[in-house]
Amino acid sequence: MITELFNPWIRDLVPYSSARSEYSGSASVFLDANESWDGGNGGINRYPDPFMRKLRSEMERVMKIPFSMSAIGNGSDEIIDMLIRMFCAPGHDSVMIERPTYGTYSVFAHTSNVSVVDVPLTPSLELDKEAMFRAIGEENPKIVFICSPNNPTGRVYPIETILEIAEFNKGITVVDEAYADFARNFESAIPFIMENPRIIVMRTFSKAYGKAGARLGILVSHPEIQRVFMKAKPPYNVSLCSQQEGLDALLHADAVRKRVEETISRRTEFSAFLSSLSYVETVFPSEANFILIRVPDVASLYDYLLSNGIVVRNRSNDPLLENTIRITIGSESEMNALKEALNAWNG
Ligand code: PMP
Repeated sequence: MITELFNPWIRDLVPYSSARSEYSGSASVFLDANESWDGGNGGINRYPDPFMRKLRSEMERVMKIPFSMSAIGNGSDEIIDMLIRMFCAPGHDSVMIERPTYGTYSVFAHTSNVSVVDVPLTPSLELDKEAMFRAIGEENPKIVFICSPNNPTGRVYPIETILEIAEFNKGITVVDEAYADFARNFESAIPFIMENPRIIVMRTFSKAYGKAGARLGILVSHPEIQRVFMKAKPPYNVSLCSQQEGLDALLHADAVRKRVEETISRRTEFSAFLSSLSYVETVFPSEANFILIRVPDVASLYDYLLSNGIVVRNRSNDPLLENTIRITIGSESEMNALKEALNAWNG
């Protein structure tokens, strides 16, 4: 049944057969890939494993993501782009998003000439389930993107709502769980993939795992989708250095957990601090590593912080988010510098 959802040219694709994917077994002389015979330390003269087997095995051990259900992209951004190319016919199909949300879903749809159906969140920034059902019925999107915890609102959507939408939607439902590690009592959509193979989950090494520079996005899907992803992606899309960075993060999983705990307690504390500032109108509750606030004069506050060498994100142009700023939870010293600046601001 999922087979019918793929673009036929992707489903029937004969993948590029790389030197590294043709060979299996034990050998010690590699003269198959036209690499240099030397390149410095660490085996960087060799092409990386196109299937990232070592990293994915460690992900199974540490993150409990089954090996046959995982794949890695050059950041989640590459996965978003790939999924649109796998499932959506250019000039014909559409994807659905619920704004305000992460910006690249619609950008990658547009780069593939795929149209975007936008169902706004409710005024309280929840998913508008009825409106989504209506739009799915009318527009038949090939992919529904749901970001939970949502960027930039920090809101986690109830798993029951996500599952209901994924059940009703006969196309693919992608649940972007990039910020899941920062959410308390988070219920992932991963355990429901085998029941409903139209659900795909994305995770990333860029947030809690601290490896944004390595570009390591995680696809979690039914093995059938994983197989098609593996054959349609560029053969060596994740560099050897990046695969090693992923392994390094998993090797230090305790340190990652500790940093996440620290980030969560700093978020609680910073949220209380923000609420105590007279000029802050709203502090939006957040389950991610950022906080969204509403202030009367965003432009002045933004410029003032910038003049103090502090960069935050102005989200005021997003629907429903007039006069808002999104602030990432940083290190203790970064937050102290920010708090000092905010205390000295007199609106
Ligand atoms: N999803 C969400 C919701 C994000 O906010 C971001 C980056 N800010 C990404 C995905 C991209 O992640 P990656 O670094 O893995 O491409």
